[in-house]
Amino acid sequence: MEQQDLRQWEWLCIQEEPPLCQATCPIHVDVRLFARHMAAGKVDDARKVLAKTMPLSGVLGRICDHPCEQACRRGDPRDGDEAIRIGSLERSCVTQSDARPRSIPVPPKGKSAAVVGGGLSGLTAAWDLARKGYAVHVLVPESEIGGVLLAYPDKVLPKEALVRELELMASMRITIETNASVDAERVESLLGEHLGVYIGLDSPALIDIHLDLGFEPDAIDPLTRGAGRPGLFAGAPIVSAPFSPIRAALHGRQAAVSLDRLAQGASLTASRDKEGPFETRLYTSMHDVEHARAVKLTGPDGYSPEEARQEAARCIQCECMECVKVCPYLAHFKGYPKKYAREIYNNLSVIHGLRQANTMIESCSNCGLCAEVCPNDFHMGTLCLQARSEMVQQDKMPPSAFDFALRDLDFNVSHKAVLARPDPDTGACEWAFVPGCQLSGATPEHVRAAYDHLRANLDGGVGMILHCCGAPAAWAGRPDLLANVTESFRSLWKELGEPRLILACTTCLQTFREHLPEMVCTSLWETLESLALPQGAGGQGAYTLHDPCTSRHEPAVQVSARAMAKRLGVIVRDPDLTGIYTECCGFGGLMEAANPGMATKVVAQRTTDNPAPFLAYCAMCRDSLSRQGAKVIHLLDLLYPHLAREPEPASPYPLIRSGSGPADKHENRARLRNQLAREIWKEAPEPMDDFERIQLVLEPEVRDAVDARRILAEDIQRAILHAETTGRRMRHEESGHFIACHQPAAVTYWVEYAPQPEGLVFRVYRAWSHRMVIKGVA
Ligand code: SF4
Ligand code: SF4
Ligand code: SF4
Repeated sequence: MEQQDLRQWEWLCIQEEPPLCQATCPIHVDVRLFARHMAAGKVDDARKVLAKTMPLSGVLGRICDHPCEQACRRGDPRDGDEAIRIGSLERSCVTQSDARPRSIPVPPKGKSAAVVGGGLSGLTAAWDLARKGYAVHVLVPESEIGGVLLAYPDKVLPKEALVRELELMASMRITIETNASVDAERVESLLGEHLGVYIGLDSPALIDIHLDLGFEPDAIDPLTRGAGRPGLFAGAPIVSAPFSPIRAALHGRQAAVSLDRLAQGASLTASRDKEGPFETRLYTSMHDVEHARAVKLTGPDGYSPEEARQEAARCIQCECMECVKVCPYLAHFKGYPKKYAREIYNNLSVIHGLRQANTMIESCSNCGLCAEVCPNDFHMGTLCLQARSEMVQQDKMPPSAFDFALRDLDFNVSHKAVLARPDPDTGACEWAFVPGCQLSGATPEHVRAAYDHLRANLDGGVGMILHCCGAPAAWAGRPDLLANVTESFRSLWKELGEPRLILACTTCLQTFREHLPEMVCTSLWETLESLALPQGAGGQGAYTLHDPCTSRHEPAVQVSARAMAKRLGVIVRDPDLTGIYTECCGFGGLMEAANPGMATKVVAQRTTDNPAPFLAYCAMCRDSLSRQGAKVIHLLDLLYPHLAREPEPASPYPLIRSGSGPADKHENRARLRNQLAREIWKEAPEPMDDFERIQLVLEPEVRDAVDARRILAEDIQRAILHAETTGRRMRHEESGHFIACHQPAAVTYWVEYAPQPEGLVFRVYRAWSHRMVIKGVA
């Protein structure tokens, strides 16, 4: 990933943009944090937040004209709520507390600036310049400091509040001269003595000074506050608009920035677009936010401490996090995509040392729900897939992550699982049924039933292709392997005369649309919708319909699945997140292979947020939900109920059964391929490998453990065959069990077993694996 790619990803995620209140506040007070402290009753902390950004906070906090309230997300009239009373909260805060953040001493700059005018604007410029290390000389033409501040009634702005701020200013490098004579000549000499001069016009004594100095208030530069000649700056005129305290403070601040830049010889205008109010891109949903009107002021002195706490608690703490709210994977890493993009970038840049983000990169299910809910379409799955591919290319991907899935894929494109045949009766092939690896592995009997059903109802000849679509290769960051798999599929399809494909799996559909676009594809559900139902089809009861995440952009498939369920006599209800917002079952993107715990979390969210039983139309979804204990059936269970393996007639949901594990699926695919070849196309079965003659006996708990460890029956069979033919095995003295191992690649498989009296039958007690190569083991 290049740095510019990172920048692009970072730009898409707007979570770190400021909330509307802060962006609209001319001096960018962190209102969100301020409100959080106020709501928690931490008034001193809230006061420190104000004082961090606000000059003379004891004054401005009392009188700010709060343009932020106009922008507050809570006050958007479309939501019918009321803005947070930020101005009243600030006033309440500064009357309750005088806490300030610890000031960090700034080394003197050795330069000075002059400020003319003792109003809020001039005092702000002096305050900011002193905090930057400049010595400041303030000239106040009146006998009293304050300019228009002095016109405020005492109950709004008590004199002591201004006095307190002036005391603080006295401890900075600020000297204030009252009764100063200020005219053009004096300003001229100030320009010679200091790096520049700021004229704060919010003082009645300075109302006409611009005439002497030869500039018009309307012509003051709105960004730099430049007043027509080098070194002279001005702001906060009180003649052209009603006095706005916050605008006066902003003008003083802008001038302080300009004077600082002048001192440093830097550009006066570059990168200043975020000074003053600006547009934020932050998106905050009001979904699920309860309406609450503003707390009414009960007395003339503003909010009481308790009222302030209640009002601050109405702040919804604006942020985006839309994707994190719906995705347990994103929530797990305690951040949000912008942060994750940086972590992934750093991870990819590590040459030696720990790659902390590996687990994050490997665990995303690539389901794309994040992109659907994100206002900027940030697709974390795409970012993770890019990172996986880069890590594989640079040999940085740990071999363990997707090892099992890739070995499974190898098998699914081998002669043991692949089959491509035209219609057995006519030899024609206008259509070809592609059940996909998951349905073939989970319920091979449904593949046969659906194929017979299609052949009986479609004209033009229906062929069959058993072959992986290549999705696991894409998920594992192996575009090279994906290209091989799709090319292999393409040649089978061409050999059959380029039939139209009927796909039972929406992952295949998605993969083909992207990587084999020349093929005309339709889903099994759209096809079946227009065909007669098989005899005995149907069911009863009400189900939560789970759309696979790969059907997100296939509305026709989702509509057909619902139509089929209705025809089959069951009631379906939609889960909370459905249609384009459907959730992953935890299998996509190889999440389950790389991070089984994460997959469990994902399914748990789906099954606890929605009522069981579920109806799925993807074999993998069915098995994933079922493995976590959810009651779930497949649409094909309703279509072919006579194939139910363990019918429970007494139950209202007799078709519910447990899911198949990976070891079962592997064997089922090989068996299905041979069975179809033999029974439909009358072909001799594939010759058996020697290891396949080994018959295994596994108790259910052993099989569960084997599945959880992603060990195939084939791995166990090979280990036992190797031990039995070479004699390289260990025997446990007491139990009489043997321990053997087998090492096909980077992983070594171990088996504890005992031969049974009858033929090549072996009882398996344990099987486990680890990622190490043992010297001397073949
Ligand atoms: S709700 Fe709170 S954080 Fe959001 S804009 Fe209003 S004051 Fe700011
Ligand atoms: S699991 Fe799905 S929603 Fe979550 S980050 Fe990955 S692609 Fe996005
Ligand atoms: S939805 Fe997620 S990725 Fe998109 S802006 Fe919000 S936090 Fe960032």
